[in-house]
Amino acid sequence: MKKVVIVGGGISGLTAGCFSQGDITIIEKNEKCGGLVNSFVKDGFRFEGGVRALLNSGIIFPMLEKLNLALDVLPNYVSVGVEDKIIDVKSKENIKDYEIMLKSLYPENTNEISNFIKVVKKMVDYIEILYSVKNPLFADKSEYFKYLPWILKALKVFMAMKNMNIPVEKYLKKFFENNSLIDIISQHFFKNIPAFYALSYFYIYTDYFYLKGGLGTFPKKLEEYFLKEKGEILYNTKVVSVDVEKKVVLDQNGKKYPYDILIWAADLKELYKMVNLTSRKFLKEKEKILNGKPAESVYTLYLAVDVPPEEFKRISHGHFFYAPCKKGLGDIHRKEIKNLISYGTKKDILNWIKRFVKYNTFEISIPVLKDETAAPKGKTGVIVSVLLDYEIVKKVYDEGWYEEFKEKMDEAFIDVLSDSIYPFLKNNILFKFSSSPISIQNYANTSDGSIIGWGFEEKAPIKNNFQKAALTSIPHVYKAGKWAYTPSGVPMAILTGKIASKYTWGVY
Ligand SMILES: Cc1cc2nc3c(=O)[nH]c(=O)nc-3n(C[C@H](O)[C@H](O)[C@H](O)COP(=O)(O)OP(=O)(O)OC[C@H]3O[C@@H](n4cnc5c(N)ncnc54)[C@H](O)[C@@H]3O)c2cc1C
Repeated sequence: MKKVVIVGGGISGLTAGCFSQGDITIIEKNEKCGGLVNSFVKDGFRFEGGVRALLNSGIIFPMLEKLNLALDVLPNYVSVGVEDKIIDVKSKENIKDYEIMLKSLYPENTNEISNFIKVVKKMVDYIEILYSVKNPLFADKSEYFKYLPWILKALKVFMAMKNMNIPVEKYLKKFFENNSLIDIISQHFFKNIPAFYALSYFYIYTDYFYLKGGLGTFPKKLEEYFLKEKGEILYNTKVVSVDVEKKVVLDQNGKKYPYDILIWAADLKELYKMVNLTSRKFLKEKEKILNGKPAESVYTLYLAVDVPPEEFKRISHGHFFYAPCKKGLGDIHRKEIKNLISYGTKKDILNWIKRFVKYNTFEISIPVLKDETAAPKGKTGVIVSVLLDYEIVKKVYDEGWYEEFKEKMDEAFIDVLSDSIYPFLKNNILFKFSSSPISIQNYANTSDGSIIGWGFEEKAPIKNNFQKAALTSIPHVYKAGKWAYTPSGVPMAILTGKIASKYTWGVY
């Protein structure tokens, strides 16, 4: 049997493990698997440490079906709000409510909004075509004939995707001159995300689901399957070196693990730093990857609140995208943040925090509104986050005032939310803690704390090609996970894990 070593027990490494063949070992640096899909409990409140809801995308359920596994699925309804206007999104019909909301906020842009909404509807229909079928990678050969009519429709979608593969902010300028409106539509996405993805979110909101017991039950299920059917997992074991000539990886204690095939489901920059090869192809690839720019990370405030879930339910569903101010971020998270990173003083950064939080869009997740077992009776756990560049936090960290920065960020979150959507919040906090891009970097060992791999502001340093997603220029080494394809996220991490697993079958 071929010896298969998989580095990283996140969702991509677990997927690769479940579909690989051979004598398989997953090596995971943490005490549990899951990486950026995880749940944890603090004083009776259950929170998500990573992704707040899962997207099926025609991938997760078919993948589970293929493994004969079932999850305890719960709905994950979304609300979207700006200032005091809040709409619920249960189906794509709610795009109409979004249109009404935008028009009431920006009455001077009524006509442009109507034109924009027409495109949103089209994009939502397009993404539905892609995501509402079982991804062919998880289909049996006997089912392939069913895809013929779908392929024709999908080709049309791929064409549209290609045409709209421009940054959403730029695309929106075709419709609007009002920069606030552009910000409010786009600022909760990663900077420069392709327009196609941003505009199709009204489908994505309806595709989200949650799990009884929290999202951590998903990797747990895969982990159990893997241990029963496939191989072993080494926990608390960090790979620190790869010897490609001898085909061994070494852990932090110098222990060696030989491989015939290595699947790297962890940080790609780390792999390329570890490998010593002199071929031109490798050196070129290495330079590109080490210079590649990761996407933004997130800043998250976790709150245990002495207020019953019903109070929160009156305001929104359990997954809520909320902008307290319709003005939008403008240059606060673009030019200003770049200047602060280059030459901002502590005073400048402290001043910036308040505006950055006030004009931002929060992703708010309230697990107890999705699963009543997530908090003690009569109390509510709330997870509030915004996207944040790693470099600003790194600067603060290097200057030695990281804890103070976090304290000020937390304070700003609480003030802004108490002054807007949750007036009862400030005086009812039982406890709080927060996580920054540095916490994410440390937990998942991911460059710049990136949660989706490469950013969109510069071209990704990988070949963005499904067929070749797993290939590297390193002999016998394949890649999977959020750095292997862009844009990424849980479904793509799963797909790339599945693609990498094929190289263990002896087919290629
Ligand atoms: C707050 C937040 C919100 C998100 N929202 C969404 C969303 O709405 N939709 C979406 O699709 N995605 C979302 N994501 C992103 C998604 O969770 C990740 O892209 C995905 O889980 C990545 O999986 P992965 O296996 O590629 O990487 P990871 O989850 O990072 O797993 C890598 C694993 O490798 C281990 N590891 C790293 N280095 C080593 C080493 N040297 N030796 C051994 N082990 C190592 C790590 O400990 C980790 O377990 C979100 C993430 C976060 C944090």
